[in-house]
Amino acid sequence: MDSLKITRTQHSKLKGVDFNNLGFGTTFSDHMLVCDYKHGQWGKAEILPFQSISLMPSAKIFHYGQSIFEGMKAYKDQDENTWLFRPEENFKRLNKSAKRLAIPELSKAVFFEGLKALLKLDNAWIPNAPGSSLYIRPIIFATGDGFHASPADAYRFLIATAPSGPYFSGQVKVLIEQTYSRSANGGVGFAKAGGNYAAQFYPTQLAIEKGYNQVIWTDDTTHEYIEEAGAMNIFIRINDTLITGPTSDRILDGVTRKSIIDIAKSEGIPVEVRKFKVSEVINASQKGSLKEMFGAGTAAVVSPISAYGFKGKDFELPVIENPYASLIKKRITSIQTNKSDDPFGWRFKV
Ligand SMILES: *Cc1c(COP(=O)(O)O)cnc(C)c1O
Repeated sequence: MDSLKITRTQHSKLKGVDFNNLGFGTTFSDHMLVCDYKHGQWGKAEILPFQSISLMPSAKIFHYGQSIFEGMKAYKDQDENTWLFRPEENFKRLNKSAKRLAIPELSKAVFFEGLKALLKLDNAWIPNAPGSSLYIRPIIFATGDGFHASPADAYRFLIATAPSGPYFSGQVKVLIEQTYSRSANGGVGFAKAGGNYAAQFYPTQLAIEKGYNQVIWTDDTTHEYIEEAGAMNIFIRINDTLITGPTSDRILDGVTRKSIIDIAKSEGIPVEVRKFKVSEVINASQKGSLKEMFGAGTAAVVSPISAYGFKGKDFELPVIENPYASLIKKRITSIQTNKSDDPFGWRFKV
């Protein structure tokens, strides 16, 4: 790729940031990467100061929701080296999402050279406190305009980053959804399409009104099978076995999910990737064999669930010693932050 044009900010916000009190995705770094697609091809990427974007009211992103995103993190180790975790997986998934939304696919060079240049320029924005990281948001959205319901002829690829503190989810109480669906066969549930999340908000609000924090999505046809936990993959532990559903049209292929499967196997934990029913979970709860339930995703790595509700009844998860969730989180974050060796070759040095 040709050398990237960089326009540095004249007003760095870095000094005003309290790195000891970072939220999650609420403070934004000084720069962003942008690359536009027009006349049938992706142009040159450039780095600009983080700023607002001007679009026509007729831009198709507003009307037809042609937009996708990725979520990844950069970590700093004690020697100030910068690391990414399995970024190739995010690149591949971005293009998988692009294809499903009729968005032109992006070249690997634009993604990786752009991301590396951005991380070098905004290196001081990557926190190194334990649990902190630079959250990275690559997005592609339709900038081309017209009211005609067809794919746009212009798009923007953009990467924005946000220094973020540890993601504390607290005691998560979830509601097993019996009415709404996150995704359907033949749909876009496997893609990180912006609209998937908009469609989750209302059912999630209803669950919050009932005293829960999050929704557990079930299959759209029968609502009998457990599929995901909010915008995370889900794992349950029955006795000593870790179980998660197989990826499909409806279940997103999470990088954290597949990393957990590999780590659990390497720890000698029995892992089953298979469909599982709400009834199996409830039976296990009643017998006392349901030991753990947790969400898995880049933001929190693992997010333990303390209780779940189903048809008006609440079921508590037991408090156990040495949960898999803690062991797995520790192993993954140690690899991510270069605190342990990396037997799987997942770390990527920037
Ligand atoms: C992003 C996402 C996940 C988690 O994917 P990671 O690659 O682990 O961050 C799981 N489910 C849904 C619906 C998602 O959007």
